[in-house]
Amino acid sequence: MITIKSTREFEMMRQAGRIVGETLALLRRSAAPGVSTGELDALAEEFILKQGAIPGFKGLYGFPGTVCTSVNEEVVHGIPHRRRKLRNGDIISMDVGAIVEGYYGDAAITVPVGEVSDKVKHLLDVTHRSLWAGIEMVRPGNRVGDIGAAVQAIAEGAGYGVVRDYVGHGIGNKLHEEPQVPNYGTPGTGVVLKAGMAIAIEPMVNMGTFQTKTKSDKWTVVTADGGWSAHFEHTVLIHEGAPEVVTVASEEVPPPPFGESSLQSE
Ligand code: MG
Repeated sequence: MITIKSTREFEMMRQAGRIVGETLALLRRSAAPGVSTGELDALAEEFILKQGAIPGFKGLYGFPGTVCTSVNEEVVHGIPHRRRKLRNGDIISMDVGAIVEGYYGDAAITVPVGEVSDKVKHLLDVTHRSLWAGIEMVRPGNRVGDIGAAVQAIAEGAGYGVVRDYVGHGIGNKLHEEPQVPNYGTPGTGVVLKAGMAIAIEPMVNMGTFQTKTKSDKWTVVTADGGWSAHFEHTVLIHEGAPEVVTVASEEVPPPPFGESSLQSE
């Protein structure tokens, strides 16, 4: 079932989204060589609790952390750990959820640790742009397939693989609601978007094959070929007219041509 949110429900999601965005800004500033993924997780948990919100992932489906920390060839759902120290040249995807009065915000960024190669910067840039290309398609009357097709065109156009095994989702008083929002698809197909719906769009883009496998810890998803992977996500509220992206971190600049002008600002 796809839920249509009330004005009050959207307001709770806006607050949760703002806290997620600020948490990601803190994590971006903190991800540096020598810092462990466990330390990043503790920072995020402390920050979210201090805002009066609840970490959205901790305990959900049994996940032990506040942040999913996925390094290099890890795609999603990496478990933070005090012994997993970041090294210069790594990339780390950090995926965070927060709950305000029962309502979720959910977003992810992938950031370089120290200095990374131009090849890796390109992967991050393309994945970020593919997310915003998807967001640009969020309009009442458009379909879920329009979002996936836009994401896929940018990512595959750059020669990368788009992960099929994990997809975006509706979001509200549950983290994962209907509909599924794949990062691939055919324009004009799938669920019709309506004002009052809320979705999380989250492309995972691999340097090589789109195929993935899960490690023996039963959580960490890695690329099948060991190529590196990037992941960006935003929670988007659907209105008549332009969508509202509630999880934008203060320093995030939407890439051209998807500038602020076409989106509602908070
Ligand atoms: Mg999500």
